[in-house]
Amino acid sequence: MINLEQLELWFVTGSQHLYGADTLKEVAAHAQEIVNHINGTTKIPVKLVWKDTVKTPEEISSVFSEANFSGSCIGVIAWMHTFSPAKMWINGLKIFHKPLLQFHTQFNRDIPWSTIDMDFMNTNQSAHGDREFGFMLSRMNKHRKVVVGHWKDDSVLERIAAWSRAAIGWHDWQGARFVRFGDNMRYVAVTDGDKVEAELKFGYSVNTHGIGDLVAVINQVGVKETDALVQEYLDTYHVAVQLKKDGAQYQSLADAARMELGLKQFLEQGNFKGFSDTFEDLHGMMQLPGIAAQRLMEQGYGFAGEGDWKTAALVRAMKSMAVGLPGGNSFMEDYTYHFDPDGPLVLGAHMLEICSSIANGKPSCEIHPLGIGGKADPVRLVFDVTGGPALNASIMDMGNRFRLLVNEVEAVAPTKELPKLPVARVLWKPYPDMNTGCAAWILAGGAHHTCYSQNLTVEHLEDFAGMAGIEFVRIGKETDLYQFKNELRWSDVYYQLNKN
Ligand code: MN
Repeated sequence: MINLEQLELWFVTGSQHLYGADTLKEVAAHAQEIVNHINGTTKIPVKLVWKDTVKTPEEISSVFSEANFSGSCIGVIAWMHTFSPAKMWINGLKIFHKPLLQFHTQFNRDIPWSTIDMDFMNTNQSAHGDREFGFMLSRMNKHRKVVVGHWKDDSVLERIAAWSRAAIGWHDWQGARFVRFGDNMRYVAVTDGDKVEAELKFGYSVNTHGIGDLVAVINQVGVKETDALVQEYLDTYHVAVQLKKDGAQYQSLADAARMELGLKQFLEQGNFKGFSDTFEDLHGMMQLPGIAAQRLMEQGYGFAGEGDWKTAALVRAMKSMAVGLPGGNSFMEDYTYHFDPDGPLVLGAHMLEICSSIANGKPSCEIHPLGIGGKADPVRLVFDVTGGPALNASIMDMGNRFRLLVNEVEAVAPTKELPKLPVARVLWKPYPDMNTGCAAWILAGGAHHTCYSQNLTVEHLEDFAGMAGIEFVRIGKETDLYQFKNELRWSDVYYQLNKN
């Protein structure tokens, strides 16, 4: 879905001419050594590219303008090995519009007690050089992540890695196209929002196609390719007896396969990275796409039901951020609660469309009536999801800003059978506890639709929200409702005053 080998992070070292050629040579060599070391670890998902040390306002503006226009550069890591007077950086930083990380490290880990002299002090000035740089970024109110620590420390590289993954998701959104088949589910509020503002803020566009445009593509899908995909279903899943070749509902499986092929073709032809549909607009469709949405999500497409374009785009971004990590990311909905005081739980599911990337084991492919939508029974993949740390994330349009809300949860493997619930489902305990977590989510206006992630952390999403310049709200182990309500109030004031 996304080729990480084509992406780069530029490593820019700041200095000035004051120190002379020998020191600048040493600065460049040190920066190269840092870049080579980091590239030699497997910590960062994309490669770092060393850039010539910048020493003048012209060189600084030039590297940032190149970074802006480079198709492969997804962000800049800046480090001041020596002092680099920060007025030199104003114009470059003003035009730079990609993610920025201020790496507050220094070349030497330890003070060389017995040999340290003024020459050493002259070259190794990060401790104050980065303060000057940091002042300018704060003075300009320029968002960046600050990572502090020695460059050989793995835990420091993990901070950079998280930011790199956020930058991958951010890069993927710029110019991305999402398609909605039909409009929003009628009267639903939280899934709606300002698509113009979203394009300004997030860089992706959302446009609608009538379902008939999709039906036309589905109807042209050939028998041969349909048969091949049906065979893939039969080979990949536990397929219900009635869906097999001599079963009574085999035609439904073939229809589902045709819908998947048509959808994929439509997405590829339009260069779309994700889609939403709605059960209220299925004219000409045989079924509500179930297995098609599930499998296309697993292939990396963003998806959300009921016209929810914000969640579809978020699912795509989170899948991009998580490329190469074990575990999955899926469209999700808080469906029903288990208020047992001994172990309260949320059961997450959707009518059909949970991504098979989060499945525990081989899904079963089944067909059951849906009860809404008035179409033929849809084919879907049914599975459970394993336990472990996870999170739910959602973006809401609050009128004057977008809010990214995240709740850390602990998924729990099901201990009971659910023989009459024929959908993929997940069980989790919200942090800090069921009642507080759900209360905080509701106070924050959190949507019922989310992206459920097994492999991203709060750090990835906080970095991502920073890149987007939107509000970030976290519900986690430390959440206290009194403080949380204050945070929301204060944040409201901040966004009333800060209208950029
Ligand atoms: Mn829904």
